[in-house]
Amino acid sequence: MTEPAPVSWVRVDGECIAGVGTRGAPADAIDAGNLRIAPGFVDLQVNGVDDVDFARASPDEFVRAGRTLAAHGVTAYCPTICTAPLDTYDAMLDAIGAARRAAKELPGLPEILGVHLEGPFLGDAPGAHPVDLIRSVDLDWIRAVLDRHPGLVRIVTVAPEADPGFEAIRLLRANGVVVALGHSRADFETARRAADAGATMVTHCFNGMGPLHHRDPGLAGAALDDDRLTPTLIPDLVHVHPAVLRLAVARKPNVAVVTDAVAADGAHTIARDGAAFLPDGTLAGSRLHMDRAVHNVVQLGFSVARAVEMTSTVPASLLGLEDRGRLTIGARADLVTVDPDSGELRDVWVRGTLVAR
Ligand code: ZN
Repeated sequence: MTEPAPVSWVRVDGECIAGVGTRGAPADAIDAGNLRIAPGFVDLQVNGVDDVDFARASPDEFVRAGRTLAAHGVTAYCPTICTAPLDTYDAMLDAIGAARRAAKELPGLPEILGVHLEGPFLGDAPGAHPVDLIRSVDLDWIRAVLDRHPGLVRIVTVAPEADPGFEAIRLLRANGVVVALGHSRADFETARRAADAGATMVTHCFNGMGPLHHRDPGLAGAALDDDRLTPTLIPDLVHVHPAVLRLAVARKPNVAVVTDAVAADGAHTIARDGAAFLPDGTLAGSRLHMDRAVHNVVQLGFSVARAVEMTSTVPASLLGLEDRGRLTIGARADLVTVDPDSGELRDVWVRGTLVAR
């Protein structure tokens, strides 16, 4: 299968793409030269960056973390909050909402697309989430949160064990929230029925779920087999074995890369092999960046085009965003250039502003 000729130049007008072409760059265009130009990366699951934890970050810390993310090619992201007591979410959402508004005013800062709530309605594969705070769905709480923070909650990871009637899935979906299945030991049929109810994503496929058994394929099997579900993968080469990453990417056109990166937290987690672990050895997120993820996917044997699609086009499409994740006229001028062989990141533009690296 031959890929179409890659875009070699992009003309930017203000914050948007005004022209693209595959040869003969005009004088006023960004000419990729020997590099590959691509849409900026969209991270649907990132808990923190360096020492900044998005669950408790100050306004200045959000700006600092945004600049770091942009330097790694991220032009839009969903700050992700892990399981917490129900009465603590309002303050966290208020802070992220304020950071989202502030980011729109500052050139070169990636857009906060909205929050990814990973929990607290999780199931029998909690991973590093505090087990005592995991609970069954509370529809009134969900309604109140959506009401108090309009448009802010973009993704909710839910386990069918916590939502046996799929009422939360239906409620969230009806309110335009993307529902991800995760931290669950749901079997294959249950996962399919959750997709019937409106789930469209599977959070960090293979991690925080039962194994893919050949007679009992489970949530991981449904994530790979059901075209309605977009599995996300953490390609830090620790969370999932390279062979399994290759199988998943080869099977599914709609696979999305997430970092699931966590803030450095020496008190509670131990960094090893580029991932974070609880003292008992449980994986507790990655220290991955999106540019490294692209490079890793290329090292697995996939093309740079495919790696970029997984880090940009697929996640943007999953959220229903058509103004990014692609190099088309009128889209946001969120751009990266990468080495066409290694996938290594070179330059980044956020809304047309070149970001210093
Ligand atoms: Zn998780």
